[in-house]
Amino acid sequence: MTTNEHDTWRRERFNQGLAALKSEIGDEGFTCRLRYLEAIIASGESDRVVAEDEYCTSIKNGEAYMERYGISVLLKRIENVLKKARGEMNALQGRQAGINEDTIRAAAEYPIENLVEVKNKRALCPFHDDHKPSMGIKNNRYKCFSCGASGSVIDLVQKIKGMLFVEAVKFLSGGGA
Ligand SMILES: [Zn+2]
Repeated sequence: MTTNEHDTWRRERFNQGLAALKSEIGDEGFTCRLRYLEAIIASGESDRVVAEDEYCTSIKNGEAYMERYGISVLLKRIENVLKKARGEMNALQGRQAGINEDTIRAAAEYPIENLVEVKNKRALCPFHDDHKPSMGIKNNRYKCFSCGASGSVIDLVQKIKGMLFVEAVKFLSGGGA
């Protein structure tokens, strides 16, 4: 065996081993990644609470903006980590549950009027004690002018029904039943 042949042989052995390992851990690897992302999201959220607290305290104490500039940078970083982790988790859960871009698009187009009563592009906000319709409805999205809640029809279903993203997408793309 020449050196080149030996290298090729070693590389093939390595690739075979890797493929075997991948098929062996398959679902387990997937679940590990999900657990990992869940942990990232949980710690990110508690970091955010602490940072927001510090930010508010700094305002209450009348400190100069420079005093909390570092906190605002940190908050932005935490938001980015959360956004990335949530995006990956949605994609992973989506693949597992058999949803794809088409089902997500179909879900996003499910008429929001079927979930909340809309009159003159307004609805009663389900997220605060609303007596006059404060929730604006536009392009199948909602935005409450009183409590600030906003999002897509998928977000709305997630919050109202306490569903995960994939569950909400399946529910809406299946006709909301
Ligand atoms: Zn509201």
